[in-house]
Amino acid sequence: MAMEISPGKTTIGWIGTGIMGAPMAGHLLRAGYQLSVHNRTRSKAEPLLQQGATWADSPADCAADADVIFTIVGFPADVEQVHLGDKGIIHSIRKGAIVVDMTTSEPSLAKRLADEYRQKGVSSLDAPVSGGDVGAREARLAIMVGGEQDAFETVLPLFELMGKNIAYMGPAGAGQHTKMCNQILIAGTMIGVCESLIYAAKAGLDQSAVIDIISKGAAGCWSISNLGPRIIKRDFAPGFIVEHFIKDMKIALSEAKAMNLKLPGLELVEKLYERLAQIGSQHDGTHALIRVLEEMAGE
Ligand code: NAP
Repeated sequence: MAMEISPGKTTIGWIGTGIMGAPMAGHLLRAGYQLSVHNRTRSKAEPLLQQGATWADSPADCAADADVIFTIVGFPADVEQVHLGDKGIIHSIRKGAIVVDMTTSEPSLAKRLADEYRQKGVSSLDAPVSGGDVGAREARLAIMVGGEQDAFETVLPLFELMGKNIAYMGPAGAGQHTKMCNQILIAGTMIGVCESLIYAAKAGLDQSAVIDIISKGAAGCWSISNLGPRIIKRDFAPGFIVEHFIKDMKIALSEAKAMNLKLPGLELVEKLYERLAQIGSQHDGTHALIRVLEEMAGE
């Protein structure tokens, strides 16, 4: 029988309370769910603990009593550690539970997790998100999900507390593949956003006025509306950090290679971001790309 999801009945584990995870977990707490939380740096979980979540010392502790456990950590190696490591979720998770990884990670790792958990009688979903820090805070994320469709339908009420556009994309790994399509699109867009603003400045235009008008026409997109104003203010706080974006582009390039596919546009953007990390912006937001493009433009 499918698990019934409700604040009175469902216990949730949450691992990863960073830029995205903290506000996403906060939405579940505010809806009345009991949450056990774990993060590498405990201080980043403190606001959630003050709202009533309980602290767990390890991923295994966090998962022990959970019906549904969410993870949104940094890199594929972190996903592997919190799920399959010495104190990983897999060692304590109960039969019949559902595990949901919302990190942007490798499709192949999502498939491996699904196989490992299946042997324990546990369902696993890959459910990466898009919409940035703003989307996480406002519960307006797009959530793209791979795995067993029954498990997706069971946890849908929880996804609906965090996102506005939620889609089942296919078997394990399909959520991560969809997120790679998202990242390939954003990568190309970021060059356009930055070069357009560099050009506007050189032409003597008011950059804010340019954003106002062009974001309402065919060039309108999330990046120009949300990141353009931050670029103008030279506010490079993340948002979405450069080293995570490089991780995503490398995953997409490696998956493309495995499919005998060449993506020259993505290769170019990845190199520009490598340069950005080299000049000290690895922990800045992705919109700091303008620093490299200004350097190359002779600004
Ligand atoms: P973040 O702020 O670095 O948050 C990651 C959190 O996971 C941190 O609190 C980190 O703890 C914790 N963590 C990492 N490894 C861990 C481990 N092994 N054990 C326990 N906790 C661990 O990153 P974020 O921006 O929230 O992004 C999270 C994921 O979502 C990334 O895969 C990113 O690519 C993806 N994503 C981000 C955005 C965005 O706009 N920010 C949008 C869509 C998708 P510490 O603080 O101790 O390192």
